[in-house]
Amino acid sequence: MSKNIRDCTTLNNGTNMPWLGFGVYQIEEGPQTERAVIHALETGYRSIDTASIYGNERSVGRAIRKSGIPREDIFLTTKVWNDDQRSKRTLDAFEESLERLEVEYVDLYLVHWPVADCYVDTWRDMEKIYQSGRSKAIGVSNFLQPHLEKLLPQSDITPAVNQVEFHPRLLQPELLAFCHSRDIRMEAWSPLMQGQVAVEPQIVALAKKYQRTPAQIALRWDLQHAVITIPKSSRPERIAENAAIFDFELAVEDMELLNSLNNSHRLGPDPLSFSF
Ligand code: NAD
Repeated sequence: MSKNIRDCTTLNNGTNMPWLGFGVYQIEEGPQTERAVIHALETGYRSIDTASIYGNERSVGRAIRKSGIPREDIFLTTKVWNDDQRSKRTLDAFEESLERLEVEYVDLYLVHWPVADCYVDTWRDMEKIYQSGRSKAIGVSNFLQPHLEKLLPQSDITPAVNQVEFHPRLLQPELLAFCHSRDIRMEAWSPLMQGQVAVEPQIVALAKKYQRTPAQIALRWDLQHAVITIPKSSRPERIAENAAIFDFELAVEDMELLNSLNNSHRLGPDPLSFSF
């Protein structure tokens, strides 16, 4: 298992992706995003997760350049939004993301949501983007097993990653096992339950036991499930706290205790019925 912040998993096409990344959802375009990303990079994070719909790709790109860290040392993810899928603009949307980020390539391009009647066509365009070499890997987000079972027989390239809502209240063991069996790496969004892990009594109790914080317990649980994790914070002390998860290990019984908190509780929309 990973021992430090730079450790990577090797995706199904041979690309290396850090186990820990930094999410920038709901951080405002401009100095706020710039500061947060620069701080994360200074702390040692080397993976940044944005999306066209977050509206902060320009600031993410600017922060990467200002950091002075070579582009090739940073793993950059962005995503194609639903309206672009509906209007069959995936190829154009990708170009526009590259322009806003001011980069030659991204490391991972994701289909943000499985828009019904669109996502198989979208995936064909994702494959073209991959073949062009301007995304080192391609993947999906918010895909449940039925979406993947429909997509896989119609695709030449298996998604490298499936980024889904994942935390101790939403374990989705079947989806995890299915992705594992197809060599699709799961990635957790809202790994901290948008902050609610801090008030979950069992997680708080485990934090006391390990002399860690609840956030660190939840993120360590992701790593031990072999799930990539991308916590978000704009506060420097929390950015550092969320990265200090590589020097302890949860015992098997404590992993099981956390697993037992699962009650299929979603904070975000259900991918089978979302309407945007
Ligand atoms: P998160 O679970 O990472 O929670 C972030 C919030 O938790 C912060 O705003 C803060 O209030 C709190 N927090 C942060 N660090 C903390 C700490 N150490 N202790 C206590 N509270 C803390 O939620 P998120 O931002 O929704 O998800 C993380 C990332 O996942 C996003 O930034 C984005 O990149 C990605 N994401 C993707 C999708 C998708 O549809 N693909 C959806 C949502 C989020």
